[in-house]
Amino acid sequence: RRDYPDESGLCWSHSGLEAEYQEDVGLENRLRQAIEEGSLRVVYQPIVDLTAGNRIVGAEALVRWPQPSGPSISPGVFVPLAEEIGVIDQLGQWVFEQACRTLRHGCEQTGRTLWMSVNVSPRQLANSALASELERIARQAGVTPAQIRLEITESGLMQQADSIGTVLERLITAGFSLALDDFGTGHSSLSRLTHLPFQVLKVDRAFVSDSPNGPGAAVVASVSTLAEALGLKRVAEGVETAEEAAYVREHGYEFGQGFLYAEPLSAEAFVARLLSSE
Ligand code: C2E
Ligand code: MG
Ligand code: MG
Ligand code: MG
Repeated sequence: RRDYPDESGLCWSHSGLEAEYQEDVGLENRLRQAIEEGSLRVVYQPIVDLTAGNRIVGAEALVRWPQPSGPSISPGVFVPLAEEIGVIDQLGQWVFEQACRTLRHGCEQTGRTLWMSVNVSPRQLANSALASELERIARQAGVTPAQIRLEITESGLMQQADSIGTVLERLITAGFSLALDDFGTGHSSLSRLTHLPFQVLKVDRAFVSDSPNGPGAAVVASVSTLAEALGLKRVAEGVETAEEAAYVREHGYEFGQGFLYAEPLSAEAFVARLLSSE
């Protein structure tokens, strides 16, 4: 950041700095407001069973921040901002509640037991009441915790202290299942992994998109071996081509997610997709 001499050249103004600062505060305030008035949106990307003819068995809830003009702001941008300004618990609970309602609706419409993945920020794991809060929201929405898979990124997990184990155990006790997201990017120690109560590994899409011919293909294969040894289910995310799909299926991945199967859909479009793909 630089200060510039004002027009008179006599003193330095801070206009550059102020504009930048005000812009940040503006964005923060708009985010707080969007969360409070419920103007964020949640979209649902179908997850298919690669061992059962690519039938849709669940979805991942992904948050969006629509803008009055122009495209939505990406969660890659505003989720870190929400963490920074201390509104991630509120945002996370709101997304969770929307996801539970959509899950219930999807199950009612199809008469099937589907499941839903919801992303949880590592910051939310600092809340010792997280498990009881999420359990209450799920039950109020008419779904059981067993239908909910909470996704925690490998890198996020590594930032957290060892006390995280207690919160994870409470989530398990409440009946939720846990997925380690973006696996392969976070350099977790394998010994630690064996002590954490995860049921699912999601290999990072960078490795999937590198398959079958790039160096990432070896990671896809070794993550699969690791998951199998630990008794975890495997999800390949970011599957875009038939070649990638064939590769992950040959390497034992039970579930697939990616543009090849479906893009993230509105709640209505997701339920319609479920019905049309019966
Ligand atoms: P993620 O949990 O790994 O989610 C998968 C991301 O990959 C999503 O990006 C999805 O749209 C994208 N994707 C899915 N299939 C494909 C594909 O075939 N090709 C490509 N190139 N991309 C694909 P999105 O929605 O932008 O989300 C980015 C990240 O933001 C998520 O990564 C997750 O870590 C975070 N996020 C999203 N929603 C939430 C939320 O409600 N709470 C929290 N804490 N984080 C969230
Ligand atoms: Mg995820
Ligand atoms: Mg991921
Ligand atoms: Mg590829």
